[in-house]
Amino acid sequence: MKCLEITTNIGCINNCVYCPQDKLLSAYPQDGKRVLELANYKDILKRIPKHVKIHFSGFSEPFLNLSCLSMIQHTLKTGRQVGLYTTTIGMNEHTINQLLGLEIKPFMVHLVDRNLEECAKNARMMEEVGVEFEYIKVGNYPESSLEQRLYMRTTRKINYQIEIGRAGNLEWHGENDIKGPIRCRDNRQFQNVLLPNGDIILCCQDYSLEYKLGNIYHDKYSDLHKGRKFLDILAQMRERDNDLICRKCFRAVPV
Ligand code: SF4
Ligand code: SF4
Repeated sequence: MKCLEITTNIGCINNCVYCPQDKLLSAYPQDGKRVLELANYKDILKRIPKHVKIHFSGFSEPFLNLSCLSMIQHTLKTGRQVGLYTTTIGMNEHTINQLLGLEIKPFMVHLVDRNLEECAKNARMMEEVGVEFEYIKVGNYPESSLEQRLYMRTTRKINYQIEIGRAGNLEWHGENDIKGPIRCRDNRQFQNVLLPNGDIILCCQDYSLEYKLGNIYHDKYSDLHKGRKFLDILAQMRERDNDLICRKCFRAVPV
């Protein structure tokens, strides 16, 4: 299923050590809008076919944009499938009450190291109210698991994810280097990322914004996966070796 990840703002204040926000900030156009306005989002949504799932995630915490809840509600009203990855930073009691009962799948709460106190407070409130969601924690350390459970006072499942090198965008992290023909094991070439200025980027690994497929204000969504840039990426996947971002990515597998 095709999916579009919505980056509602540029400059995530969580600044996780495993996230190349610095790369994003230097690559994002200086004159580009940093916050996606609700009216613009509604206009953009009209340009996206109904079968495309909408994920509120992308390159920043979605609720740092004060219109995020309204965007989610509007998207659901249009009959689309919605997913959400949030650290809860930017939510308040009103937001949490409004999220109750919304058909959001997946609904993942990412436990962040920075701002964990606020994250834990909001998550506990969501559990008390009865919002359905699961936890994600990056880094699989037993001591961290214990700490998190004690801190969160939760019995809910915490999904641990290993730290990844963001396909070469984290300099301190080792990267893959796969030779020969490859494919993306999760077909993420069809899970693109929208930026507040309308640009659409290949996938959530491309924090350096090197693989721009088009701009939703100037290009038709249906043309993005037929265009020269996209076809060139597919051709590079079939080659023996080159600098394609996918060769450094944990989702790339040999074919
Ligand atoms: S990993 Fe997520 S929460 Fe952490 S800085 Fe990046 S976008 Fe923000
Ligand atoms: S292999 Fe990695 S970089 Fe390439 S499309 Fe998939 S997720 Fe993106």
